[in-house]
Formats: sequence, structure tokens, C-alpha cells
Amino acid sequence: MSAETQDLALLARESVRALPLYAPEAADDALDLSDSVNLWGTPPAALRAIADPTREHLSRYPSPRSDSLTPALLRYLRLDKTAGVRAVTGCGSDDVLDAAMRAFGAAGDRIAFSAPTFSMVPLFARLNGLEPAPIAFREHFDLDVDRLAATGAKITYLCAPNNPSGTGISRAAVEHVASVATGIVLLDEAYAEFAPESFADLVGRHERLVVVRTFSKAFGMAGLRIGYAAGAASVVGMIERARGPYKVNVLAERAALAALADTSDGLGWVREHARLAVEVRDRVATALTAMGFPPLPSAANFLCVPTVDAARLATRLRERGVLVRQFAGLPREPRPLVNAGGSALRVGIGPWPLMQRFLDAFAEACACE
Ligand SMILES: *Cc1c(COP(=O)(O)O)cnc(C)c1O
Repeated sequence: MSAETQDLALLARESVRALPLYAPEAADDALDLSDSVNLWGTPPAALRAIADPTREHLSRYPSPRSDSLTPALLRYLRLDKTAGVRAVTGCGSDDVLDAAMRAFGAAGDRIAFSAPTFSMVPLFARLNGLEPAPIAFREHFDLDVDRLAATGAKITYLCAPNNPSGTGISRAAVEHVASVATGIVLLDEAYAEFAPESFADLVGRHERLVVVRTFSKAFGMAGLRIGYAAGAASVVGMIERARGPYKVNVLAERAALAALADTSDGLGWVREHARLAVEVRDRVATALTAMGFPPLPSAANFLCVPTVDAARLATRLRERGVLVRQFAGLPREPRPLVNAGGSALRVGIGPWPLMQRFLDAFAEACACE
């Protein structure tokens, strides 16, 4: 690199220079369980909807704010009859979270969250000049509501079910946070379709609460990059402004609409495969427990396995063509993470034959010394 290009890099904002480049591990022929996408694929109705892009008028801009999609999103969340609620879409829910931080967080403001949580949150926080305020979970991954509130944060981020732990939080805890917070509360429900319940309905009762969802997980459309949020019109309107127009492309909007249609190959497909994922997840959890690696209780389509051996096991799994996400340095609370020295593996769930392949590789990986 020439001296000149180095100098130019120094012109970048300090918060940008300090950021690592997000570079998840990838391998062409590996069984990739490292992110929690839908390993069954994409709803057939969504695939059909984008099969003939010449009919999509690709030469034109999409609607600035996904006008055809937002009513369907509110209907799906059962918020269409709730007065004063509005939906905003984005290029993945990452984009919506980023825009929300930009809309409500001025430089130096705090964003509070229970840690460990979605790794993008502290990253987007720093990029937007916000100060991350991580608060350890309490025992059993309960929210420490008092300490979250005591941060006086402009934004509180909740993730239910939580990534990477997979654990759920209680409705009472969400309501408690929404009633004591002084800023806005972003409730990330990326994995709601796998969870016993959603808290999206609370949006109608708590004006500061915004529920954030995605088509990347249960809906099997991570590659199309589409996410959304719903909340009070006054709050969501600000996220829309910060987000900017045209973030969701024509194909993504059409595919999302098709996947939300109440048909067996649209929403029916999504629900059926979410149910399957939960079934397979519980089978894999039982198998791992029998091998001496009890995962945390999961309400999502992945399992978090606290183990001091996380790094070694991840390497050995990779040698056997299986990719999982490895975590180290997680907060030393609560108990299962303390015992594992803050290390864990996160394993995405897919069709049983793939999981059988994972379990075989895992058995080999922990047997060899
Ligand atoms: C995967 C995930 C998302 C989704 O991100 P997209 O940008 O919509 O793909 C959001 N939040 C959490 C916690 C996730 O794990």
C-alpha cells in the first residue's frame, strides 16, 4: 500500500476506522450451520413471484417506502386494526436498526442492551456515534430491568428470542422495560416465528416500543435483504426519514408479499417449516445433552452450547466440513456461561439429515484428543 492511500484512510471517521469488517466464515462445500437462516429454503410462492423479472419493471424505481408491502406486514403482525401504528421496511432488519439508531441517537447518547446479544448492535451503535451500554443478563437469562433503566439510555435494544443465547424473555419483562424506559425501545423479534409467543401486540399499548422483524430467518429470504419494523406512527416516521427511500428492491417486495399470502406455499410453508425447525431443534438438543453438552433452552432455530472447548470444537468441526459460530469472551453471567468461561458454540438448525451429519461430526470432534 502506498503512503498516499494510507493517508486517505486516515481521513475516514475515527469510528469507522475502528470498526472490524464483518466477515463471517464461508466454505463452498461445507455444511454451514453458522448463521440461522432457513436451511429448508424459500417459500415456493416467493420464488414464483420473482421467477420472471422482466415483468417486474426492473428499469423503474420501487415504491420509496414499500407501499404495497406495509399493509400486509401490519396484517401479519395483527396490528392492522391498531390505531396509530405504522410499518417501515429496510434492506434487511439490520438497515432498520441502523436507521433507528441514526434517527434517535445523537453522538454520545447511550444504547442499552442485555449482553450477550446480536453482534451488529454494538457495531451499528459505534458507527452512529452511540455509546453501547451492555448490561449482563440475570440468572436464567432474565433481563436486569433496573440496570437497563438506570442507564438512562436514549435507545434500549431487546432481542427476543435472543441471539446468540437463543433464550426467550418474558412478556412481563418487555412490558416492564417499555414502561420504565425514557427513550425508545427496539424489540428485535428476528426469531419470533420459532418462539412460543410474540410481543408485537404490545406496540399498541406502549408508544415507545418498536418491534423489528425480518424475512431472513423463518421466511427463508436472507439473500433478498428485507426487514421491517412496526410501532407508533410518530416514532416509525422518524426511522423512515433516517432510512431514506428505495431501500427495498422490486423483487424483494414482490417475494415478501407472496410469502405473506395465506396460501400453503406462502405463509403456510413458512409456518410448517418453523414448526419443523422447532421439532428438529429439540431432537438435536436432546442428543447434545446426552453427549454431555446441554444447550441453553432455545426459543429460536438455533442452539447455543456453552463449552470451554468452543474454539477447539469449532476447528475440529470445520475440519469435518461443518461450520458453526464460535463465541468467546461472552459476559461471565449467567451461570452456564460462567462455567464455560464465556465460550459457546451456536448451531443453526435445518433438516434432520443435515443435523445427523452435524451430530456425527460433533461426536468425532469431541472424542479425539
Ligand atoms: C439474523 C438477525 C437479524 C436479521 O438481520 P437481516 O438484516 O434482516 O438479515 C436481526 N436481528 C437478529 C438478532 C438476528 O439474529
